[in-house]
Amino acid sequence: MTPNKRFNATGSRSSSAERPSNLPAHLNGRSDVLIAGGGFAGFALAIALRQALGVNFTVTLADPAVGQAGRDVRASAIAAAPRRMFEALGVWAAVADEAQPILDMVITDSRVHDAVRPVFLTFGGEIEPGEPFAHMIENGRLVAALSAKAVSAGVALIATAVADFAAETSGVNVTLRNGAAIRTRLLVAADGARSRLRERAGIATYG
Ligand SMILES: Cc1cc2nc3c(=O)[nH]c(=O)nc-3n(C[C@H](O)[C@H](O)[C@H](O)COP(=O)(O)OP(=O)(O)OC[C@H]3O[C@@H](n4cnc5c(N)ncnc54)[C@H](O)[C@@H]3O)c2cc1C
Repeated sequence: MTPNKRFNATGSRSSSAERPSNLPAHLNGRSDVLIAGGGFAGFALAIALRQALGVNFTVTLADPAVGQAGRDVRASAIAAAPRRMFEALGVWAAVADEAQPILDMVITDSRVHDAVRPVFLTFGGEIEPGEPFAHMIENGRLVAALSAKAVSAGVALIATAVADFAAETSGVNVTLRNGAAIRTRLLVAADGARSRLRERAGIATYG
């Protein structure tokens, strides 16, 4: 995050008493990395960091939706490359039986009974013969599997939003919406495609 920026950001859902809303005591108010947002991006990064950098590297993920994956009614087409990533993270096996393979998709601008149906776009990509190029899956199921893997990998989960931060050259002082404070070496904005944290940090996107 850009140094010396301060901002306020609020999540859309509130935490409940049943879900962890405080930083675990053993972290003593510090975490090597703090990830704001527990969607596909945030959880995948959290698990990968723990697996790659070892148990002494502390990773914390804050999201007001922690423990509420079932509320996400969206479904996503997970392409072959991210599916392989979820396999490498040890998550895909937990959802494979519920994922519906997509074996072919052809984009055309014609009617079903037209004699000639020109193909404008296909989605083959770099896949093995017979390998699905994507799988449809409910977001909630995949996030629940990611959350379970994150917990077993030792990621600290906090059911609240990142509300404020002040970045310095040596780290970031973060305030959570529940009022707790965390000092982190890196704050990651994984709070969705229209990330308010990214925007308030002044990080541009191009699309
Ligand atoms: C209708 C629809 C259909 C889509 N279909 C597909 C598809 O088929 N295939 C596909 O690949 N993509 C699809 N997408 C896009 C896909 O959902 C997103 O690209 C993907 O979910 C982004 O993941 P993410 O982890 O970045 O963000 P999200 O899944 O949006 O997660 C962001 C998380 O951040 C949390 N949050 C927000 N603010 C804060 C804060 N201040 N502090 C802490 N946490 C915060 C939120 O509670 C949320 O849990 C679709 C999107 C929509 C809207």
